[in-house]
Amino acid sequence: MATLEVKNLHVEIEDEERKTKKEILKGVNLEMKTGEIHAIMGPNGTGKSTLSQTIMGQSNYHVTQGDILLNGESILEMPVDERARKGLFLAMQYPAEIQGVTNAEFLRAAINARRPEDDKISVMDFLKELDKNLELLDMSQKMTERYLNEGFSGGEKKRNEILQLLMIKPNFALLDEIDSGLDIDALKVVSKGVNSMRGDNFGALIITHYQRLLNYIQPDVVHVMMGGRIVKTGPADLALKLEKEGYAGLRDELGLDV
Ligand code: ADP
Ligand code: MG
Ligand code: MG
Repeated sequence: MATLEVKNLHVEIEDEERKTKKEILKGVNLEMKTGEIHAIMGPNGTGKSTLSQTIMGQSNYHVTQGDILLNGESILEMPVDERARKGLFLAMQYPAEIQGVTNAEFLRAAINARRPEDDKISVMDFLKELDKNLELLDMSQKMTERYLNEGFSGGEKKRNEILQLLMIKPNFALLDEIDSGLDIDALKVVSKGVNSMRGDNFGALIITHYQRLLNYIQPDVVHVMMGGRIVKTGPADLALKLEKEGYAGLRDELGLDV
């Protein structure tokens, strides 16, 4: 079992226009284990993407207080690629396009980056796994021969991110608005892919604006983030309640002014 803990996390970002710093996360606490799927919901601009980018280690997010622990070890000083090797995955973390690298080449390199020198995946095993996952996601073989993300439509990029997830098999996946801009069929395919990962060695943090995605990927725990903090945590039906009452209802209930 692997664990991911976020402790009293405070994060600032630089406002490049105004040359000032702004605190976005104001003490986030979150604990998850493999085997669990957590969802974070919350209004726009509340810091959800900031949290996922900070967990992954993107450089323009400055941690001013608190810690992020993976299996009890602080990862704050680790660069993005080291965090990926340790089992973290952020959908959207990869560059939009990489010239001259096919999707399949990229996937193999990413898988091998997580394996020791004497245990690289064989071409045969790689292709077998690739075929299986392409079929699951209803994707064509041709997608893997194309250059990474070059000329991919929005929906193809999303599917391709889920293909990366299935191939790389991280311990923890941070899935930030994987539902945005998807039609219902694509949403079902993406959800099927995530659900196929469920198991003792996999945990996911699903960030979404809308409850709809959670009809397809049932979370074990739902967190609500407002004003840079997690203000409520509960079981799956918390998402349904939110959908009904809106964030305003929760603001009133908790007496928040954010
Ligand atoms: P969410 O994902 O919940 O919609 P974000 O984490 O994207 O929220 O944004 C939180 C706040 O930080 C917002 O006020 C947003 O405008 C601001 N913000 C996010 N990224 C940047 C950035 N790179 N530069 C300046 N402000 C940013
Ligand atoms: Mg947003
Ligand atoms: Mg966001």
